[in-house]
Amino acid sequence: MTYKPTRKECISIFRLVNLLALNSEVIEPKFKFPSAKTMTGAWGYADFPKGTSGIIELCKEYPTYILFVKVLIHEIGHLWVWYVKRNRKETHGPIFKEYCELIEARFGISVLDVPWKNSLTGDKD
Ligand SMILES: [Zn+2]
Repeated sequence: MTYKPTRKECISIFRLVNLLALNSEVIEPKFKFPSAKTMTGAWGYADFPKGTSGIIELCKEYPTYILFVKVLIHEIGHLWVWYVKRNRKETHGPIFKEYCELIEARFGISVLDVPWKNSLTGDKD
């Protein structure tokens, strides 16, 4: 059953993950839901434009709720690496893997490898 995320749900999950796994160190980002045309390759993107606390872009619809949750938590990891660990160059390197281990230890889910939109394997940004 497909799931259409809302900004409210994104904020709730963000706050829960931040509180339970990240010592509330990540500043709340803006959540955007660009058109399907913009969101071609990946289920989600994170960015850190200068002077902002970060942006997470998500699709308007996901095939399952758990995929949406995994993508969102994966993208929060990029913000953690960039803003908390202050490494703006890393994407899926050792610091990101450290984040994934924190998440797996706390919630028992893997967010390291989130599928590309058009495939079931591989990595994404
Ligand atoms: Zn990524």
